[in-house]
Amino acid sequence: MSGGVRPDLFAAVGDTPLIRIPHLSAALGRNILGKAEHLNPGGSVKDRAAKYIIEAAERAGTLAAGGTIVEGTAGNTGIALALLGNARGYRTIIVIPDDQSPEKFDLLRVLGADVRAVPAVPFADENNYYHVARRIAQETPNALWADQFNNLANRDAHYETTGPEIWRDGGATLDAFVAAAGTGGTFAGVSRFLKEQNEAIRCVLADPLGSALFCYVKTGRLEFEGDSFVEGIGIKRVTDNFKDAPVDDAVRVSDRDAVEMAHYLLREEGLLLGGSAALNVVAAARVAKGCPAGASVVTILCDGGARAMSRLYNARWLAENELTPTARGLEFL
Ligand code: PMP
Repeated sequence: MSGGVRPDLFAAVGDTPLIRIPHLSAALGRNILGKAEHLNPGGSVKDRAAKYIIEAAERAGTLAAGGTIVEGTAGNTGIALALLGNARGYRTIIVIPDDQSPEKFDLLRVLGADVRAVPAVPFADENNYYHVARRIAQETPNALWADQFNNLANRDAHYETTGPEIWRDGGATLDAFVAAAGTGGTFAGVSRFLKEQNEAIRCVLADPLGSALFCYVKTGRLEFEGDSFVEGIGIKRVTDNFKDAPVDDAVRVSDRDAVEMAHYLLREEGLLLGGSAALNVVAAARVAKGCPAGASVVTILCDGGARAMSRLYNARWLAENELTPTARGLEFL
């Protein structure tokens, strides 16, 4: 990590620690490394995409003083855009599906975003948050539609920063990179960069139930089964950001196993993480088990657990959803 004063909030995004998860690694006989994206100023991996989207728009002249940023988001991108927007004097209008955790709504409002909750409906429905955000941006003067799914500044952020940081800190001994995709920006940017450094690094997609990407990677068809409560990941279409990503394989992880891992990580490793980070660690551990002893697998710790208190870390919610963790160790892996 470079020393010295960071001149502003934008400069404080990224350069997160790469943390070995020690007890899990010892149990597996393989190193699991977590890129601690929850330590970004906005608390998630999406700070990087938000920063790059804003800076690219400023360079292109599509976002200028007094402007408004509009985005449809499951939450973390909105939080990042609101904070970075405040730091540069932009308003933010955030369109969010109403099934996301209440913590994110509260936080977005505290940050000053104009929050528009919409029913959680499929992408094909014109009232899906993605389409609503596009229309609001078209109707709002001096507005930028951030369009994280197809705006390649998102992938560029990870190609130019997350990937190089992982390579700098752990590259020499890396055997695999494993991560889930929401927009696909993180997976595509990091996997592309790592493959360019060393083609032998296996890039494996982690996917929740209800997402079509597992099937897409395995068969080329966009089919899915089941559903997942894990927020921010899983998608039923191929985004521009994900389209050209080098993918060697995919691993599907159940909500139950993600919940078990979240509670294991908190209890045994002192890591309070969100559901997608826990799901990533499950997938990373399973990929590691297929690698030779001593191998290293890196994954992304996308966000922290503070945004998941009402579900992932709420005993009553877990019981109601038949997801109460029961593992005493790592027997679920
Ligand atoms: N985890 C969480 C909690 C997220 O909010 C997101 C972003 N949607 C992701 C993972 C996936 O990141 P990406 O959009 O880069 O695929």
